[in-house]
Amino acid sequence: MPEIIAVSKTFEMNDISPLIEYGHKHFGENKVQEAVEKWSETKNLDKDLKLHLLGKLQTNKVKFALKIFDYIHSLDNEKLAQKISKFQSENSFNVKIFIQVNIGNEDQKSGINEKNLLEFYKYCKDLNLNIIGLMCIPPFDKISSSYFKKMQILRDKVNLNHLSMGMSSDFLSAIEHQSTFLRIGSEIFGKRG
Ligand SMILES: *Cc1c(COP(=O)(O)O)cnc(C)c1O
Repeated sequence: MPEIIAVSKTFEMNDISPLIEYGHKHFGENKVQEAVEKWSETKNLDKDLKLHLLGKLQTNKVKFALKIFDYIHSLDNEKLAQKISKFQSENSFNVKIFIQVNIGNEDQKSGINEKNLLEFYKYCKDLNLNIIGLMCIPPFDKISSSYFKKMQILRDKVNLNHLSMGMSSDFLSAIEHQSTFLRIGSEIFGKRG
């Protein structure tokens, strides 16, 4: 069974807390600052809550990100990998990391190109990063399944356990392609304002 990350970005703790009270543990946010403001207190009260960073991480925010996030889904460059590694070794964090893959080869999207993936993965391993899987956001205007299929093959090639893929519009297809972490926002919380 894949884990469901309830993507709570832009929603207030008032909207989120019923889900926490129900027992849901995994939540996703896009921005470091928003997560710190929204989650610091709640997370201190419930140590079992897991927070996932889904959005772009700037190197100057790494310090704050590692204090609050248990998972980072958006590792996509060497400088960021170095920064995480350095900050981790100075403290005792062990964040779980997904490498983001630009699976549709889109200019405007973040992510490692698939042809550089193995090399980048080795680079991260040499830095002692805890890489647990691969993440992707397929092109908006295309059917996701062929991209998910490619991700499955890449995951096997790199020999990792996890795939972070599937959003509100395509999570069923992601499950068929062995996703282990679905990132679902609007189907849970409703339309974002
Ligand atoms: C917002 C977001 C989601 C959730 O999107 P929905 O379509 O609302 O399910 C998933 N992944 C990432 C990276 C996001 O930014």
